[in-house]
Amino acid sequence: MNRYIYLLFIFIFCLSCKQHTRAQSKSENSEILAADRVQISYVDNVLRFLASDELEGRDTGSKGLEKAAQYIEEQFKQHDILPYFETYRDTFNAKGVPTYNLVGYLEGKDKALAKEFIIVGAHFDHIGKAKAVDGDTIANGANDNAAGSTAVISLAKQFAKYNNNKRSILFVLFGAEEKGLLGSKHLAQLLKEKNLNLYAMVNFEMIGVPLNDKPYKAYITGYEMSNMATKINEYVDATLIGFLPKAKEFQLFQRSDNYPFYKQFNVPCQTISTFDFTNYNYYHHVDDEASEMDFEFMTGLINQCFSAIATMANTINREVRLH
Ligand SMILES: [Zn+2]
Repeated sequence: MNRYIYLLFIFIFCLSCKQHTRAQSKSENSEILAADRVQISYVDNVLRFLASDELEGRDTGSKGLEKAAQYIEEQFKQHDILPYFETYRDTFNAKGVPTYNLVGYLEGKDKALAKEFIIVGAHFDHIGKAKAVDGDTIANGANDNAAGSTAVISLAKQFAKYNNNKRSILFVLFGAEEKGLLGSKHLAQLLKEKNLNLYAMVNFEMIGVPLNDKPYKAYITGYEMSNMATKINEYVDATLIGFLPKAKEFQLFQRSDNYPFYKQFNVPCQTISTFDFTNYNYYHHVDDEASEMDFEFMTGLINQCFSAIATMANTINREVRLH
């Protein structure tokens, strides 16, 4: 055999070997990733507990809210999410009723970037009882906001499992949102006084039911205020987050727990939601129940949000910015 042809053969052989192992490791990786995703069974379990009748609609000051809190603390503990304060509870007074936010902490793994924080939040309180329908008076608040709470709890579990976030992350379940964003107002002020270096906040509200006929999976409030939606879509390589005109019309940016953080810190603090005013008839209604949730949809959304927030936590520069 001609020496050059021989060398050429060797070269092609090596190339194909390399490609083979590369393809193999890629498929192995995606299998590992699939097994490592947030599981639908977990999302289902958490949401069904939070929205169960036993919790009586999670009203501020109620035994039901206390049961929800103990359950969430147990999830945090099990998954090695630490309390950010002395305990998980950040207590405050909601118009004369003592209540609390729950604040879990996962420290950043990069010495310098660990000083920067991302807050992943959702309110876990609801309105307790509402107008009776067929003898049912418990407003279970499955979509509002057991769904968002389930996202935060699932994300905490997932981040703790990977445990490779460069920036630090706080996982917050807000109390007394339904009383006028009282929990988030309290915590935003407290963290501002402590000089927390906040990079961004991603809040979750009503993500249990898919949007009606939209080219994106969820919308973000305050869409035009920052490049957060664009960056999230870039990070997950999909049209995950879009602009919902109704969200702007009804000023939803100012109506959830992201708002007090934006006011205190003036950094991107926004809410991801899939409630579009046409896809769910049970807002603050006793029929807002777990049976109405689309768990497969929710789980997919949570997994994509995990990828997006994981990238946010690890980029060298603060890529998400206000316009
Ligand atoms: Zn809500």
